[in-house]
Amino acid sequence: MDMNTKQLKKNAFRVTKHRGITASRIRVPGGHLNAKFLSMIQNIAETYGNGTVHITSRQGFEVPGIAYEDMPKVNELLQPIIEGLDINQQNPGEGYNASGTRNVTACIGNNVCPYGCYNTSAFAKRIEKAIFPNDLHFKIALTGCHNDCAKVRMHDFGIIGMTEPQYDKDRCVNCGACVKKCLKKSLRLSRL
Ligand code: SF4
Ligand code: SF4
Repeated sequence: MDMNTKQLKKNAFRVTKHRGITASRIRVPGGHLNAKFLSMIQNIAETYGNGTVHITSRQGFEVPGIAYEDMPKVNELLQPIIEGLDINQQNPGEGYNASGTRNVTACIGNNVCPYGCYNTSAFAKRIEKAIFPNDLHFKIALTGCHNDCAKVRMHDFGIIGMTEPQYDKDRCVNCGACVKKCLKKSLRLSRL
């Protein structure tokens, strides 16, 4: 079988354990996307794949069961997804230009989570614009607070959101957490 696997991988398809069959890897920076893209991914899976979709550990999608000869047609169907998610692309209609830098992952951040110190998804999109396409195998993750739901510490580069607590008398709900923390701190200091 005559196939340039280096080129195939660079185009964000995968060499699989099945002869002549590949899988398409779809980037979703920050793991957040408009729901309308899901039906486009479904269409690719049902038209050229085996009807299934894998949600990847890096918050993207992988569509398995695609025949090598269908890769150009899959790239055509990927075009509105690539454009809609604002992915840098050198040659429209030819899919992804690289697969080295992996999809930038992010926890839900302050879009939803009360602990989030910043908009992780929006920041992931900005980083994606700056780093992609690139052949360097590099993993980046963003997390909205020190709970580190995105496992930033296990990445090549990561950002953990933090903030200096600020008192706003109009928003205080009298929970007592600051008083408890402050008492603990003074106790620790008194033992020094
Ligand atoms: S890391 Fe923090 S901000 Fe992000 S989802 Fe987890 S708790 Fe929320
Ligand atoms: S009592 Fe609770 S809500 Fe009020 S300032 Fe302290 S921590 Fe914040």
